[in-house]
Amino acid sequence: MMRYRMIQAQGRPELALLNDAGELRRMGEVWSRLAGGYAAAPERPTLDELLASRAPHAFADELEAAFEAGVVVDPAPAALVPLRGGDLLCIGRNYAEHAAELGNAIPGEPIVFMKPRASLIASGEPVHLPDGVKQVHYEGELALVIGKPLSGAITPEQARDAIFGVTLMNDVTDRAKQNLLKEGGKPWVLAKGRSSFAPFGPNLMRLKPEDAVEELELTTHVNGELRQQGTPSLWLFPLPVLIDFLARMIGLRPGDVIATGTPKGVGAVAAGDIVTVSSPSIGVLENRIV
Ligand code: ZN
Repeated sequence: MMRYRMIQAQGRPELALLNDAGELRRMGEVWSRLAGGYAAAPERPTLDELLASRAPHAFADELEAAFEAGVVVDPAPAALVPLRGGDLLCIGRNYAEHAAELGNAIPGEPIVFMKPRASLIASGEPVHLPDGVKQVHYEGELALVIGKPLSGAITPEQARDAIFGVTLMNDVTDRAKQNLLKEGGKPWVLAKGRSSFAPFGPNLMRLKPEDAVEELELTTHVNGELRQQGTPSLWLFPLPVLIDFLARMIGLRPGDVIATGTPKGVGAVAAGDIVTVSSPSIGVLENRIV
C-alpha cells in the first residue's frame, strides 16, 4: 500500500511517496510530467494540492505507477504536517468502552466537534502542556481524509468512494477543562484546541474503495507501554453511517479530516512522556510532551 508524506525538500515542502519497502521518493518532477488535466504543476506539489485536483484517486494511481521515477530521499527528513487545508472534524465517543470509562452515555447519533487547524503539529514535534493545566490526556485515533465533495444523503458506496485515505492523530485533551465545559453545556474547543494539541500524520495511507477499513489496527503507547488498542470494527458509527451523517448535516470537501474517536485506555501524560500512536500499515506518530 502506498503512503503519502509531506517532507521538507531543499527548503520547501514537497509531496513524497513511501512504498512498502520503506523507500521514500520526492514526486515533484513526476507530478509536473503527469499533472496535465488533473492539477497545476508547481515545482513542489503538496498533498493539499493532490486532494484539490480534478480526480485525486485517478491522479494518485498515475503517481503511484510512476513511483520509480521519483527522486529517492535517504535518509528521510523530518515529516511535516501532511495537510493544511480542510476542516478538522472529530467524533466523540465512537467506541462504547471509551464512553463507559469516562462515565458517558452511548450517543444516539455521532458527537461532532472541531479542533482548530492551528493546533496541528507534525510527528516529532513537541506537545506543550499549557501553564496551570493538570490533566492532559492522549487520545490515539484513526483520521479519515476526504477526497471528494459530499452533501446530502449518500450510499455506502459513495461514502467509501469519497475517502482518499487514512492517517493518525492524537486528539490531545485537557480533560479537567473538558469536564467543566461539559457540565456547563459549553463547546469543547477550549479543551481540545490548545496550541500543539493535534499531533497528525506523518503518513497518509491511500484507501481504495475495496480495502477493508474495519481491520485497520490502532495502538497507543506511552513510554513504550501499550495503553490503547482498537479497530474500526468497534466503532459505534461505522464508516458509511458516519460519512452519510456528516454529508447530510454539514457537507464534506476534499482535504477535510475526520478523527474517528478513541478506543478505551485514555490517560494523563506528564512532561517527558513520549506518546506513540501507530498502525502497522499506516505508520508511527510519535511526540514528546514538554
Ligand atoms: Zn478524540
